[in-house]
Amino acid sequence: MAKAKPIEIPNYITVRELASQMEISPINVIKELMANGIMVNINQEIDYDTAAIVAEELGFAPSPFIEEIEEDEEGKPMWKRILAQEREKDLQPRPPVITMLGHVDHGKTSLLDTIRKTNVTAGEAGGITQHIGAYQAEHNGQLITFLDTPGHEAFTAMRARGARSTDIAILVVAADDGLMPQTREAIDHARAAGVPIIVALNKIDLPGARPDRVKQQLNDLGLVPDDWDGDTMVIPVSATHKLGIEDLLEGILLTAEELKPRANPKAAPTGTVIEARTERGRGVTATLLVQNGTLKEGDTLLIGSIYGRIKSMYDFKGKRVKSASPATPVSVSGLNELPGAGDQFKVVESEKVARKMVAEIEANREQTPAQGPPRLEDFFNRLQGDDIKKLNVIVKVDVQGSLEPLLSSLDKIKNAEVELVVLSASTGSISENDVNLASASHALVLGFNVDVDSAALIAANSLGVIVKRYTIIYHLLEDIERVMKGLMEPTYQEVIIGRAEVRDVFQIRKVGQVAGCYMRTGEAQRNSHARLIRGTQLVYEGRVSSLKHIQESVRTIKTGFEFGVNLGDWNDYREGDIIEFYINQRVEI
Ligand code: GDP
Repeated sequence: MAKAKPIEIPNYITVRELASQMEISPINVIKELMANGIMVNINQEIDYDTAAIVAEELGFAPSPFIEEIEEDEEGKPMWKRILAQEREKDLQPRPPVITMLGHVDHGKTSLLDTIRKTNVTAGEAGGITQHIGAYQAEHNGQLITFLDTPGHEAFTAMRARGARSTDIAILVVAADDGLMPQTREAIDHARAAGVPIIVALNKIDLPGARPDRVKQQLNDLGLVPDDWDGDTMVIPVSATHKLGIEDLLEGILLTAEELKPRANPKAAPTGTVIEARTERGRGVTATLLVQNGTLKEGDTLLIGSIYGRIKSMYDFKGKRVKSASPATPVSVSGLNELPGAGDQFKVVESEKVARKMVAEIEANREQTPAQGPPRLEDFFNRLQGDDIKKLNVIVKVDVQGSLEPLLSSLDKIKNAEVELVVLSASTGSISENDVNLASASHALVLGFNVDVDSAALIAANSLGVIVKRYTIIYHLLEDIERVMKGLMEPTYQEVIIGRAEVRDVFQIRKVGQVAGCYMRTGEAQRNSHARLIRGTQLVYEGRVSSLKHIQESVRTIKTGFEFGVNLGDWNDYREGDIIEFYINQRVEI
């Protein structure tokens, strides 16, 4: 297998930008995303994880980069790209973010309320005045952030929009009721998200409480309780009698100690919209969970095509704050429209810049070609490198009796390169929730003798999730085998795009040497590869690290233009050197 090419990807990147970095058509990126169950247009942003999957599939080795603000020589702020390795030193511990999942009426809301009442230190504003969708509790001097909208529907709907906001899921199980269908679903959802689960065994005060029965049920699903020598914490609590609350918080902190959630308070602020509403007198208010960087009053937010300067910012206690560090929820006002829960925000320089970016998005939206429905043939969830590739599926069947034979047949489909992962398998018609889970986990939804809810159909269309229904098991298995066989390595071919001549060499402070060139044939692209040829010798091969026309960074330089270029960390250009620019193009097989 050819060695994967390194590529740096920020926390969020538009499809267009990603395509340009990989030197392939944005249409191919859109196709690849669609194949992974994600429907986006060219100007939409995708998060690092999604971009990384696509990049890997296209033969790249992605690593994250973030942008930080630094001062230039004159003390003016300047954006600087920092590699993940370099910013390691800036990472600071942050509070863990918790979501409560579980069956209806098992006590999620009551637990959130009890924790809020007992473990939130009243602030200057005289305690909590209003719910903003998230709050922070304190235990042993450490903060824990709770998301206040319980349930896996909200959790997965947010994930389907690209949000990765939760670190730990608390699975609330009523000790008298035991595991119910939604508890099982919640387990699937938390597992699909790769989020650790702590079980809160609630209503332990009730005479009908049967903790051992619940532990047995959990054990049967692979959540082996810690007092049965497993590694799932099962903590008996009573929300209404305030029992075990401190133990639960202790359990959260112990799990967080292992996870070590960290963020860079100095990075460009990014995060997730938790909820939003229109308030009389304040206009649109949105609760934001800051995930990286430090958000400040006066910052200009950009959320898709919604924007606005933060006029005021309040913490969950209703106290006005000037800044918010990672894992802190804040309520902000100043946005021009209502964003949706799970939308990602970032900060841009000014409202003017935001307006310009939004105008670009709108203009390009019209140019984006219509996308056809996703096809099974396109469903590639390839993970490159040595990792085994995964094909995620969600299975819905009509009756329990169909589940066993179907799962055992799926289990028999073996392929050395691809692993089939059943994220969830249950009875009932295909719901919007299944589609959200599929979208969030890049999975296929397979139905056997079941209907699709109309809400699920709409969601599948808008999220680009593939829903396939069958009445004959054999057909289902045949399709899956076909998809698995299709998960092949892409191949690449080098295409030389231009040649330039070095005519001058400049020494720039802090940067080093820059080659002043003349583009003789073809073009140079900012993200292309290049070879430096001296006489007949190849002296350097690497990536273009900067491309400038006069002082401006540009994407391309056409024939006949003069420009400045830097190749990787090369620092020895000479007049008369030739620079050959090339890209690696995917060859369709
Ligand atoms: P949710 O649907 O999971 O959010 O559940 P709620 O928090 O709304 O609780 C459902 C019902 O269970 C309410 O009537 C609560 O008062 C009750 N409840 C919650 N926790 C406990 C508990 O620890 N003990 C008892 N006895 N009742 C509880």
